[in-house]
Amino acid sequence: MIYVDENITPVDDVNTPFEYRDVKIKNDENPLDKYIILPELGRGSFGTVFYCKERQNNMELAVKVVGYKKKKEKIMMETEINILASLHHPAIIVIYDAFDYGNKLYCFMELIQGGELFDRVIETDFVLTERACACFIRQICDAVEYMHSKRIIHLDLKPENVLCISKQGNRIKIIDFGFARRYNPNKNLQVMFGTAEFSAPEVVLFEDIGPFTDMWSIGVICYVLLSGLSPFVGADDYETMTNVSFAKYSFDYAPFNEISSVAKDFLAELLVKESSNRMTAKNALKHEWLIQLDSLSPGVTLSLTKTKLKRYVILRRWRKAALSVIFINKLNKFSNSHFLKNCQI
Ligand code: ATP
Repeated sequence: MIYVDENITPVDDVNTPFEYRDVKIKNDENPLDKYIILPELGRGSFGTVFYCKERQNNMELAVKVVGYKKKKEKIMMETEINILASLHHPAIIVIYDAFDYGNKLYCFMELIQGGELFDRVIETDFVLTERACACFIRQICDAVEYMHSKRIIHLDLKPENVLCISKQGNRIKIIDFGFARRYNPNKNLQVMFGTAEFSAPEVVLFEDIGPFTDMWSIGVICYVLLSGLSPFVGADDYETMTNVSFAKYSFDYAPFNEISSVAKDFLAELLVKESSNRMTAKNALKHEWLIQLDSLSPGVTLSLTKTKLKRYVILRRWRKAALSVIFINKLNKFSNSHFLKNCQI
């Protein structure tokens, strides 16, 4: 059995096998001269992530490869690399090297071996308690507070982008800065991207976004983690976006019977439609639920939440797989399938 909350202060060796480096994108150098690219670790809508090794010292790493055709696509990945290079926090993925070669951008980074957070917590031997949830959420808030202090907003916080360092410890790392932006409080910024289920009302309503937009997503992740239920999900993205725009949710479901009122208050401070009234990352870290974490008793095992969370993870995976099949079928209609050529090594 894995009782993550026995050690409420995050454990695990957070040290990457390398020091923080000043990473600049190298042009016209073939990354394959320095690195061996091995099997695929994961795939998103933009990039494919592979396991890899540095030839010189056999150091294990992960590399995200994104093919680009248009300048806009290239700029997006360059932004991700440059933002990552400016972030040094124990709960944020560390970049190692970057290349622009043959119409592909390569972002080499530390290898994370513990898998996605939600996959980990639904494992049979994982004991899910409210305290374990708070331990994970506190690390997410800490990393996000650091990002926001550097005027960077992630804009795609969702369960897939929270990885566990190991299968035994309780340390997490935030990945995928593909949508991240530098934020200027004096300039208005709207976006039309993200994952509907975790997007804030200001995103779906195309209103001004800001650090508060990430805080909404943390609220949704936390709601799902505590209950196994998704507060705004609908039958399709349109329905989900409509639900998000109304920002109506409820704690009137059986899994919430086991959840403390202080945890519900934490959620209620985040899932606030009016962005200016939403809790900031700084204040989240001062919220009683996260402050009392060390003295909080582990509490009951959230078995109903875990059952629902299992179902949620499986359904989400099916939905993602179905979407990518539709996507690939559409692409196959074009005889010259640029995306597939660029994404597969
Ligand atoms: P999305 O469609 O969510 O925007 P993406 O194309 O930007 O995705 P990532 O989310 O960065 O791609 O990575 C895709 C998957 O690869 C992740 O869900 C994860 O499973 C795996 N992955 C990413 N980075 C690492 C890493 N450093 N170590 C291990 N696995 C990783």
